[in-house]
Amino acid sequence: MADRELKGEGRRAISIFGSTGSIGRNTLDLLERDPAAYRVEVLTANHNAAQLAEQARRVGARMAVVADPDRYGDLRAALSGSGVEAAAGPDAVAEAAERPVDWVMSAIVGAAGLAPTLRAVRSGAVVALANKETLVCAGDIVMAEVARCGATLLPVDSEHNAIFQVFDFARPQRVEKIILTASGGPFRDKDMGFMEAATPDQAVAHPNWSMGAKISVDSATMMNKGLEMIEASHLFPVSESAIEVIVHPQSVIHSMVAYQDGSVLAQLGSPDMRTPIAYSLAWPDRMPAPVEKLDLARIARLTFEAPDPVRFPALRLAREALQGGGAIPTVLNASNEVAVAGFLDRRIGFLDIARVVEDTMEAAPGGTITTLDEILEMDAWARRRAAERMTAAAAQ
Ligand code: NAD
Ligand code: MG
Repeated sequence: MADRELKGEGRRAISIFGSTGSIGRNTLDLLERDPAAYRVEVLTANHNAAQLAEQARRVGARMAVVADPDRYGDLRAALSGSGVEAAAGPDAVAEAAERPVDWVMSAIVGAAGLAPTLRAVRSGAVVALANKETLVCAGDIVMAEVARCGATLLPVDSEHNAIFQVFDFARPQRVEKIILTASGGPFRDKDMGFMEAATPDQAVAHPNWSMGAKISVDSATMMNKGLEMIEASHLFPVSESAIEVIVHPQSVIHSMVAYQDGSVLAQLGSPDMRTPIAYSLAWPDRMPAPVEKLDLARIARLTFEAPDPVRFPALRLAREALQGGGAIPTVLNASNEVAVAGFLDRRIGFLDIARVVEDTMEAAPGGTITTLDEILEMDAWARRRAAERMTAAAAQ
């Protein structure tokens, strides 16, 4: 892109939604290594006004938005004298996504990221998407908006970023399948008895990746891979049956594309999200990233195994949601968000997460849904239903 086209006065103007999270902080880490190249427009957080204000001052952001309206006073106080504009509330977060920038990182966790992501798509910015729940909850609508606006959506999720790098979009009919790799999470070797009693601390202790609490629990249940199958179905022109999952505990191969001539193309790298973030930041170019370079001789062995459907029922539930389509992925995602929050609050056990999701999916009304309002209604219904089911589980 020529400099004169940039919205940041010769620098690239950047907004980060969810800047206080794991992906948000990794994104800032890359930007701060080359301050002459970037100007930060908007940073957002959920509750943590102090951390948000500190980030905004540090990088000279134009605006900081905290989603929790009760933190507005804290944010204003923490930003006083800085010249950074402060705002609060979910609507302010979504509106901030309309401010003109060149590149947006969508890294809010959960369906709360849907509204800002849709606004960013409509704004004409390149949108780097980490927030997979947005595609699981409302993938048809988001992708239709991407097509209608001629937007560029770049997948940051490491598996989808890997596939994006090796998928022949000009000849999708030559692709036989895409293969998502899964680390298997912290409970890959554990039995059902261990998992029944597993604590939040055990579930968030991921062997390879350092991530936010919600996605770490999703990795432990393997719902993360289930969400990623649905995410992949929206990002790549392949049928449901052409999306496979394989457990690869080293997390070195980030995913693969199998072609009809027997070739399988993979993208490899150290498990560090700064590689896919850097890819999406520099795309279609590449940039240096401060990651540990892959040392295959030291790693020595890459291993693979089939996922266990008995210990990880979330994979089956996500496959059913993918096959069923309509409102079911929305219900899967919303009930999973509620159940994971309940587990992290120690209100339900680890294995109850999939039980709550399955029960909510079974109770869900069928039929197609097409509008955003219908999706939001279904999302709200599933959250209520899952919360009721969780109260019942906790009482047992
Ligand atoms: P995180 O919990 O570390 O950070 C989440 C961010 O979203 C924080 O800034 C938080 O303040 C904000 N947030 C949370 N709830 C919000 C709400 N209701 N409204 C507005 N803002 C809210 O999570 P993370 O690990 O950075 O993950 C972010 C997204 O990226 C998730 O969708 C996750 O699945 C995806 N992702 C993360 C990784 C990773 O390595 N961390 C890898 C692939 C994909
Ligand atoms: Mg992933």
